[in-house]
Amino acid sequence: MSLRLYNTMSRQVEEFRPLNPPKVGLYACGPTVYDYTHIGHLRKYVMDDVLVRVLKYLGYQVTFVRNITDVGHLVSDGDEGEDKLEKGSRKYKLSAWDLAKKFEDYFNYSMRQMNTLPPDVSCRATEHIPEQLEMVETLEKKGYTYTILDDGVYFDTSKLPDYGKLARLKLDKLKVGARVTKLKGKKNPTDFALWKFEKKGQKRQMVWESPWAKRSFPGWHIECSAMSAKYLGEQFDIHTGGVDHIAVHHTNEIAQAEAAFEKKPFVKYWVHHNFLQIEGKKMSKSLGNIYTIDDILKKGYHSMALRLLFLTAHYRSELDFYFKNLAGMQKALKKLVESIARWKIEDLPAVSSRLVGMQAGGRLKIEDRRWKLEEKKMSKLAKEYRKRFWEKMLDDLNTPEAVAVMWQVAKDEALSGKEKLALLIDFDQVLGLRLFKLTPDELELQSQVDINSLPPKVKELLKKRQQARKEKNWQEADRLRDKLKEFGYLVEDTAEGEKVKKTSAVILPSKA
Ligand code: AMP
Ligand code: ZN
Repeated sequence: MSLRLYNTMSRQVEEFRPLNPPKVGLYACGPTVYDYTHIGHLRKYVMDDVLVRVLKYLGYQVTFVRNITDVGHLVSDGDEGEDKLEKGSRKYKLSAWDLAKKFEDYFNYSMRQMNTLPPDVSCRATEHIPEQLEMVETLEKKGYTYTILDDGVYFDTSKLPDYGKLARLKLDKLKVGARVTKLKGKKNPTDFALWKFEKKGQKRQMVWESPWAKRSFPGWHIECSAMSAKYLGEQFDIHTGGVDHIAVHHTNEIAQAEAAFEKKPFVKYWVHHNFLQIEGKKMSKSLGNIYTIDDILKKGYHSMALRLLFLTAHYRSELDFYFKNLAGMQKALKKLVESIARWKIEDLPAVSSRLVGMQAGGRLKIEDRRWKLEEKKMSKLAKEYRKRFWEKMLDDLNTPEAVAVMWQVAKDEALSGKEKLALLIDFDQVLGLRLFKLTPDELELQSQVDINSLPPKVKELLKKRQQARKEKNWQEADRLRDKLKEFGYLVEDTAEGEKVKKTSAVILPSKA
């Protein structure tokens, strides 16, 4: 089994052959931590996670490095405008350092929600200032740089004959304004900042002393070249990022690294993910469609339904996000999780009577390992499904078709429950949906409801429950909570007060 990956550099799907097998070095451009991580970011990092899982499954020893951009990413890709961190610091009334911490934490929390494997190295730009300075000094010594007074140290892109090869830029035809703005003092429109100086009259929070200025800071691109070299070496296997990074950020990473280290290629495989848009539109503040993972959870959806939704689109295609599709994913996932519980029970006749009470809602306390099957013990049909799944997955991570195989397995009555379990355990190692940990209960579609619009009977129960809580009669309060559940309403006591959600399931009132 070997992996084939689309390489943006060659514009072709290529067989993956690492530089030093079985080792694989992978660098993913991480978030700029000036605001909340949104579901567009989540899509990108879930697709990185699938790639990492596939490489590990294939037995490679992966070193997965992901950076945290906590300084130097300017509002404009043309080296102008404010640093996103300094701008965010005003918006959230926090120091730039506290802001970076807050949103790095939120990013990591979002990653955990999405069940992504943590990177082996998570590195902050602000903690690698000496490495970045050293690289700029090397470039200066080699004659690739020039200084713009009161602005910064710039990379002279005309010194590299193959500059722009990743994006296939036609430099002679490149008009200022098309890709970059012409900054006063730049020799070529594509030249970019390696190191920036604090502007006169400005009081930046994040500044460092450098050979060129007392108060200065790194340009955005240098961090990725300096940190990838530190942790993965001057040449490595895979670099990922969004498609928006091809023309500027990654083009400039290549320029810096190949000029400084004099080794080509800097990266063997360039993997770029496409964007997520919301109901046909780009995410934007004005449209109010920038959703975080908490927005998704608060609406009653499960993070694994979101992960499944991401998997149903190929990473190189745009994905248009609709809540109705997310709801569809959640229903399908719930059905699958219920089936898994049933197949487990069927496979354990001796204990099944004890488990019947738990039915689909229960989580069996039996090691998943029990249902692993060696290839040679599988039927011909099961082997065929397994082969089909992996053919799709290894064909440039064709997750939509791999997921389709998963649904076929779930449906096919010619497969035994035990075989289905074995196949799903295998598939989930890379899909990462936590299929064997989820319970149907947590996949219940819930939506918050306005308390005033509730049926009179439900309102009355809520009132009684509030009274019971006031009297600290917790037993009665819990009984009433259960009663409300039977009517299809979940009550949650939060810091902001009582919240009521409607469950999608019809739960019949008990006779008691
Ligand atoms: P940033 O925090 O802006 O530096 O972005 C971090 C990563 O998320 C980059 O690789 C971007 O390409 C990617 N990204 C940002 N917005 C979206 C989106 N709407 N859909 C997919 N990826 C995105
Ligand atoms: Zn980067």
